[in-house]
Amino acid sequence: MTPALDPAACMATAWQVAPDLPLRLVVVAALAAVAGWADAQRYFPGKRAFFWLNTVLVLWIAGTTAEHAAVAAECKATVALLCWPFIMTLPVLWSLFLQRYVSADTQPPRTSVVTATVLALALQVLGAFSNGWHGGFYGAGSALGPAVLGLPRMRYQYGPLFVLAAVWGYAWLVRATVVIARAVHDCAPEDRPLWLAFLVMMAVPWAANVAYVLFGLRLLGGDPTPLSFAVGAVGFGWLIRNSSLLRVVPMSRRLLFTALPDPVLVLDSLNRVIDCNRAGERLAGQAVPRGVPLPQFPVAGAALTELLARAPHGEGTVVIDQPPLVLDVRATDIGGDGQRIGRMLQLRDVTERHRTQTRLAAALAQRDSQLAQVAQLEAELREQTLRDPLTGLHNRRALGQRFAHERQHQQATAQPLTLVLLDVDHFKRVNDSHGHAMGDAVLQALGGVLTEGLRASDSVFRIGGEEFALLLPGADATQALLRVQALRERAAALDVPPDDGRVRFSAGIATCERGTLSLDDLLRRADAALYLAKAGGRNRSELGAAGP
Ligand code: GH3
Ligand code: MG
Ligand code: MG
Repeated sequence: MTPALDPAACMATAWQVAPDLPLRLVVVAALAAVAGWADAQRYFPGKRAFFWLNTVLVLWIAGTTAEHAAVAAECKATVALLCWPFIMTLPVLWSLFLQRYVSADTQPPRTSVVTATVLALALQVLGAFSNGWHGGFYGAGSALGPAVLGLPRMRYQYGPLFVLAAVWGYAWLVRATVVIARAVHDCAPEDRPLWLAFLVMMAVPWAANVAYVLFGLRLLGGDPTPLSFAVGAVGFGWLIRNSSLLRVVPMSRRLLFTALPDPVLVLDSLNRVIDCNRAGERLAGQAVPRGVPLPQFPVAGAALTELLARAPHGEGTVVIDQPPLVLDVRATDIGGDGQRIGRMLQLRDVTERHRTQTRLAAALAQRDSQLAQVAQLEAELREQTLRDPLTGLHNRRALGQRFAHERQHQQATAQPLTLVLLDVDHFKRVNDSHGHAMGDAVLQALGGVLTEGLRASDSVFRIGGEEFALLLPGADATQALLRVQALRERAAALDVPPDDGRVRFSAGIATCERGTLSLDDLLRRADAALYLAKAGGRNRSELGAAGP
């Protein structure tokens, strides 16, 4: 007969209780308890896959039990075909659970993978359910065989679709085994016993299946596979329950990664973003699809790529305008022995700090410029206190400073230093006949004559109303006399005041030979000489007593 879906056959058939029923009930109850326990747990990675894995296993074992209990061959075949959705889903769930549990993965699987898997499952289920038409799963040679445990058993003839389904199941189990083997290899030493125990549990269905296929091992007269899966599943449940402490460390690391306030991007060797924590998604402003090339990362992707190309160690600062953002970047290589398989980028948003620093720098610069301004004003003010506002010449106070400086120089060079006191003759008359403003103009013009008519090393001071002092370093009395004479001529040539009145002055000259006289001494001597000049008829120079 070709096994076909025939629900009516199951309505008509008689049912017999097999002696292994209590054992099967115990297994089903254990699996149901594990599923219930898993469902009640708050969280562990792969929890949902584990729950469904146990549920599907319960349905499969219940199905085989019903198949054994049915008496009619048509009903047995119907139940056997109905079990295929469970048989084909189980290895997928098995593999999915292990992969998620091992990697503490919380990301939903990729939609494309889910779609392809569901489609493949649907096609296979369709193939099984339509077996009556093509016999691709179970061939026409399927028939009732000898009784086992007192009940008749079907002997199926396996078709090509059956082989395909077997390959499907083995492929998923191989994947699951690789996942655990890798965990055993890569894990921290303290986690190794746990993953080894998982590997042992994984080995149970393998061993039972291989023994059944190669050596014809039977359990309760039939295929030991479903029961061996049950042993594995209950074992997993026990391990999960007892290893929750062990799992705290990797899970907490994963949580730390997820909850870290700083964005972290994980890149593969081709600079694609294969993982990104919540802060990273906040930075991007959206969920980031896994595998997006770094240059296309929504925010700062191009700048980060450029930094990685520029800085061999991936350390530096990235500044972007839109949105305004400054990121400190630290890259860590993933993979040892010079074999980089990826990189982890830690980003720190330092925009605010940067902004504050910029503001601080601007404030400091402003303060510096203000300080410089104040210093300049201060210098100007100081200069003003040394200047006579009318003529712009230095004043009496400046004479004191200048003299101190020159005398020091004189003591060092043993050169003479001469002071001339100069008083305009009959100045009162200028004021009286031309007005005070003209008097001012005469004083300014004379100031110009004195400054221009002397050497650069000489200095001119206005020390009183119409009185001036000249400090002539290096000049002895005779040289001073000549210079004053030259000034007298220049002053007489001035065209202010406008009429006949010439600007004339009397001068008293005092020379200090070796720098021992004080300014007061020199002034007194020069003043005495000036007095003599005035008394002697004005418009002349007199030499004061020379001093050491
Ligand atoms: P003498 O030859 O004896 O020096 O006679 P004099 O008129 O120059 O001397 P006197 O001391 O009698 O008069 C000085 C005058 O200078 C008196 C004052 O009004 C005038 N004077 C002082 N300071 C200024 C000033 O800044 N501007 C003007 N226009 N006149 C001034
Ligand atoms: Mg005077
Ligand atoms: Mg005078």
